[in-house]
This record gives sequence, C-alpha cells and structure tokens, in this order.
Amino acid sequence: MQDWSVKELSSLLKEKKTSSVEITTDYLASIKKKNPEINAFITVDENRSIAQAKLADERIQKGEGDTLTGVPIAQKDIFCAEDWLTTCGSKMLHNFIAPYDATVVKKFNEAGAVNLGKTNMDEFAMGSSNETSFFGAVKNPWDLSRVPGGSSGGSAAAIASRMCPGATATDTGGSIRQPASLCGLTGLKPTYGLVSRYGMIAFASSLDQAGPMAKSSEDCAMMLNVMAGFDPKDSTSIDHKKEDYTKNIDQPIKGLKIGLPKEYFAEGLDGDVAKLIEAAINQFKKLGATIVDVSLPNTNLSIPVYYVLAPAEASSNLSRYDGVRYGYRTSQYDDLMDMYSKTRQEGFGEEVKRRILIGTYVLSAGYYDAYYLKAQQIRHLISEDFKKAFQSCDVIMGPTAPSTAFKANEKIDDPVTMYLQDIYTIATNLAGLPGMSIPAGFVNKLPVGLQIIGNYFDEARMLNVAHQFQKATDWHKAMPEGALS
Ligand code: GLN
Repeated sequence: MQDWSVKELSSLLKEKKTSSVEITTDYLASIKKKNPEINAFITVDENRSIAQAKLADERIQKGEGDTLTGVPIAQKDIFCAEDWLTTCGSKMLHNFIAPYDATVVKKFNEAGAVNLGKTNMDEFAMGSSNETSFFGAVKNPWDLSRVPGGSSGGSAAAIASRMCPGATATDTGGSIRQPASLCGLTGLKPTYGLVSRYGMIAFASSLDQAGPMAKSSEDCAMMLNVMAGFDPKDSTSIDHKKEDYTKNIDQPIKGLKIGLPKEYFAEGLDGDVAKLIEAAINQFKKLGATIVDVSLPNTNLSIPVYYVLAPAEASSNLSRYDGVRYGYRTSQYDDLMDMYSKTRQEGFGEEVKRRILIGTYVLSAGYYDAYYLKAQQIRHLISEDFKKAFQSCDVIMGPTAPSTAFKANEKIDDPVTMYLQDIYTIATNLAGLPGMSIPAGFVNKLPVGLQIIGNYFDEARMLNVAHQFQKATDWHKAMPEGALS
C-alpha cells in the first residue's frame, strides 16, 4: 500500500476497495518505523490524522468525495496548520501553535485530504541540504550518509521512503526541485502567484512559491488542482483562470520544441549527470520533440543576485520574530533591547543570522543603490533572457542540480559551495517562471533529476511533457532499498 500513487489511492478510495482509515493507519505505521532514522517529520499527530480519515470515509460513503478525499499527504512545516505545531524548522518557532490554516492547508482540508504530519525543513527554508533545521538533519533514503537536499528535504525524504504518497513543498530558489532531484521524485514549482502564500511563513516574498512533490507528474497534477487558485488574502496572488492540470496530461508531445541553454551544460556540471540529461533529451526526441539551442547569458549572475535579494527580503520578513509576538523568548534579560537581542541571538541558527546580516547590509543607506538596486536591474535582465529563449521553444530543459546527493557535513561549513547547488534553479524564481524536476536515472545508485522550465502559467504543458516521459521510462518508479520493509 505504501508504494501506491496519489492517483491509485484516489481510485481505490472512490471504488471503496479500501478506506482512508486503513491507508492512513498504514502510513502512520510506516512513519513510526522509519522516521526515527530518516527524521523527515517534525510533528506527527496520529489521533488528528485518523479523525480526519474517519471524516473522509464518511464523506466518501455519502458519495460526497472529491478526487483527493481520504488521500493522506504531508505538509511542509512552513505552512500554518490550525492547532498544529508550526516551526519552520526553527528554534524561534519551536513552540508555536498556529492559530489558523494557510490557504494551501485549508484547500487540502476542504478537498478531504488527510494531513499525515508536518515535514522537516531547513530553518526558515534557507538551505540546500536540510542540515540547518533546529530539529536535526534529514537523511536521504537512497543513502543514509547523504543529504536529501533542501529546503524541502523532509517532504522529499518522506515520499522517497514511502512514509507518504505526496507532500507540499516550497521553492524560493530551488527548494522543491533540488530535493526532488536528489531523492528521485517529481516536484513542481508553479508560476509565481499561482498558489497562495497566505499562511506560508515568509522567507523572500517576491520569490517564495508553494508546489506539490510526489512520485509522478500525474500525482503532482492532481495535487496542483487542489493548491492553485486566486486568493484575495495574498496580495501577489494572480487571478488566473482555474485549470484542470490532469486534463491534457495524456496528449502526445510530437512537435514539442525543447530549448537547451548552453549555460546549463557548462563547467560545474558533473559529467555523469550530464550524460543522463542527454539520454533523457534523446528520449524526448523519440517521443517526437525537436531540439533548439538557446542561451541564458545571465545564468551565472543568478546566484549573486539571489543572495542580495533573498537576504534583503528575509531580513525584513524575519524582523517579526522579536520574542513578543511569536514563539521563543530568551529566559533572562535586563531590558527590552536586551530581550530582543538575546531572543534573536539564541532563537536563530547560523545560516539565518548570516542572511539577516547580509540583508540588512545591502539595504542600508549608502549600499542600497550599489547592491539592492543593481540586483533588481540584473533580475530584470534574467527575465528578459527567458523571454527571448521562449520565442524559439516551448519548454527549456537541463539538469536540476549540478550533482547527485552529497555527503552530510560536506558543504555545511562552505556556504558558497552550498549556494551553487541552485545554479540551475534560481533564475526561474527570479523570473517568476514555473520549473519542475523529474527523475532521469541514477549515477552510482543515486537519483538524478531533469529540469523542465515552462513559460508563465504553462504548468499543464509541463505536466503533460513530464507525464509522457514517465510513460516511456521507469526512473520515477524506482525506490530506495528497504523503503517497503
Ligand atoms: N537553497 C536556497 C537557499 O538557501 C533556496 C532555498 C529555497 O528555495 N527555499 O536560499
């Protein structure tokens, strides 16, 4: 049962061949067994999940079930879920019980999906290895000595080890796609504004976007159907027409024009990863796609630009954690200033503090023009690169990450090397474009992800393209050893 897809679970429930309580119980048992080792979940609340499953079963009995009614999924711990501990991977929120549901959580609840628990993540979603979490590192189920990627490493590890069939995730610079790549999963970061950010703890608001992670493109499409939609509570939510992302998923992709940016195959890309990406492209050619060469000349500026803009926004967003309004407060202090400063000193981890310092620096008088404004200008140029590239192709493809999963502790003391993990993913966030990662094979038994970048609101096409690949290949079906034991 634990290897079933969201789609299979949905049909079995609809046909009443199983019940939500049965499925939920099975996944909870899987979590109990594997989570102590993998550490993918921060919070599990069996009673609450079973209660939701019972309600879902009643709904199905009455014939009032929706597609995801009764299907259990996990929620990244960046989403506020009413009465659930919501930590964002930080000591600062280690005791924060959310008073309301994020729109994403609300939508899953309304669809009748069961919340299996809150998944581990890098602190405030800052990281690429899930090693910055206050709740401890997450292990990659494919090799326990390696990282699962980040910041949505908990969601990825939970699915890869079959503790849940799908999970929510968020992506500010690559945090859905890079862990999906490192754990052999399918993950989609939608167009900025497609999924509501309301109740999703803010890191860098102009870049943050939530999306689904699961084993297959079909499953992601089903989850996106629930997640997407205009939300007046999010000022940057876009009123885009409601789509059914599963509708055209089966269409042939003959004639598809795939753009290959030369900058994504340059120095820095692991040779074995490159070979698998080329093999995947050849597979697309067999499916009738044609290849065009494109160029994204400002790719190498995306990381420096991101590490000015994201920390700037983070320094402002994280000023709300002052020991008064939320979560942690230092136990001993002399006066108000002392309380603020000790709370933040003790409550935030090293990486978060590094970002706050960079952010306040680049925003300070005298440096604003030199750094922040300059970065905004280059951000515009990066968007223009994509605009130009999409004049000659339908989708852009390349690697998701430069390498397979790296060893725990390998990069944690070298921030710049860690930041390079997102070299192929960050530009899409800067441009607000949708990006996806799908499994494309293995190097030394470690998964490799192929990235698909689409034009604005072209998620349906991307999911279709990914699904056609997954019909022709089996990479997404592979599972780490022992996942079902
Ligand atoms: N790894 C990047 C960072 O550390 C992106 C994280 C994310 O997408 N949330 O900021």
